[in-house]
Amino acid sequence: MANAYFGDHPGRLEIPGECSNLLCLTRTPRLSRDIIVSKFIEKQECGATEASKECKEQTESLHEQKTAVGVECYSKFDEMGLKTNLLRGIYSLGYEHPSFIQQRAIVPVYQGHDCICQAQSGTGKTAAFCTAILQLIDASVREPQAIVLSPTRHLAQQTHKVMKDLALHMDVNVHLLIGGLGQPSNRAHASMLADGVHVVVGTPGRVNQMVAETGALRTERIKILVIDEADEMLDMGFKDQVYDLIKYLPEEAQVCLFSATMPPEALDITEKFMRNPVRILIKKEEVTLDGIGQYFVDVVQEEYKLDCLCDLYESLTISQAIIFCRTKRKVDWLLEKMSERDFTCSALHGEMDQRDRDLVVEEFRSGSSRVLLTTDCLARGFDCQQVNLVINFDLPVKRDDYIHRIGRSGRFGRKGVAINFVTARDIRQMRDIEGYYHSMWTELPKNLDISN
Ligand code: AMP
Repeated sequence: MANAYFGDHPGRLEIPGECSNLLCLTRTPRLSRDIIVSKFIEKQECGATEASKECKEQTESLHEQKTAVGVECYSKFDEMGLKTNLLRGIYSLGYEHPSFIQQRAIVPVYQGHDCICQAQSGTGKTAAFCTAILQLIDASVREPQAIVLSPTRHLAQQTHKVMKDLALHMDVNVHLLIGGLGQPSNRAHASMLADGVHVVVGTPGRVNQMVAETGALRTERIKILVIDEADEMLDMGFKDQVYDLIKYLPEEAQVCLFSATMPPEALDITEKFMRNPVRILIKKEEVTLDGIGQYFVDVVQEEYKLDCLCDLYESLTISQAIIFCRTKRKVDWLLEKMSERDFTCSALHGEMDQRDRDLVVEEFRSGSSRVLLTTDCLARGFDCQQVNLVINFDLPVKRDDYIHRIGRSGRFGRKGVAINFVTARDIRQMRDIEGYYHSMWTELPKNLDISN
């Protein structure tokens, strides 16, 4: 077994002997964290050394194991030792039982361990880390004690709402730190932060600005940094910003990563700034989404996709659907074609300004629009309980995006369906995705019932 687990003594983390070899890679104290980080960047630029190859192999083999085994599991929120007012928040959200990830992650996170947690989309990952954070916070200290980083403003907004809802009966101030239209100016953010904030949820750019440039976000009392959608956050675009922020945190602050997908490369990077993390990982063949039927439609060639979509639209009972296209241009094109045929849809992509995007998301959430055309910009984290159908009008380019996309349906145990349009040219990619997730797509039957 190569993971940390809790022994007989509540609250004491034991590391089994067999894994000491593995864990020594991560036992680097963060005393000189910034040096470690810059060394890592150097190493990357020079190409992989033998040591890093060995480390990668070990992380890969670790990834192959179901590391959730051995982490203590709490089947009731009441058994987790949570504050009464936090429990009240949990129950007033209607959460009766903790989900798989909540059963395993909440306690080690609030006990102060660095954690790497993989949780499938829609299984309560956000509430898992929000609960742990709220348990950790000392409300009498009106200083920032926790930071959550999300890759998009939209996801940050969602997390901020979950955190506030959970904190309903607590005297905890949760601040949303993002930019964009309709958001406070930096000066306004600074004054809100000065008023006393306990938890900050934001995007890396804005958070770093308030930490490093303006100093308005004080980090002396930070106990925990949670990096949501960690694989994306540790990817090229955000990695440096995350490292920059870590340099400003107190030495003893814990770092916790959450993501639906945790590729070996992302795990490899975590070795550089985490200490003996508790790992709750899922084997990649277990990362298909139970409760989501996966189907394909042989559309033969690209030109037939539109007709096929219109047929589906008429024949299926769609509560709400998300249709994924590969590019923004394709989304605009499809919106136009669907409108010409009198099908009502809305569209969302990265080239639209924030105000329009917020409006579209709001319309979709409220149910006033039922079909949303989008690109992979929406694939991560978007939580809308009514979505029962995801259509991949184009298959995703990256295999990991497939799981993020289809996870938009079947949220929290609800039934969901994913329909993949496959042309003759897509067959190889279809087999590749099927093989990667050890799943088989079934040809779409004539009378599929997808009503929830
Ligand atoms: P997430 O995986 O964080 O995107 O959460 C997916 C959905 O599950 C959200 O709509 C949450 O409100 C819901 N949820 C989270 N935890 C629970 C729970 N313990 N019981 C019921 N619903 C939950």
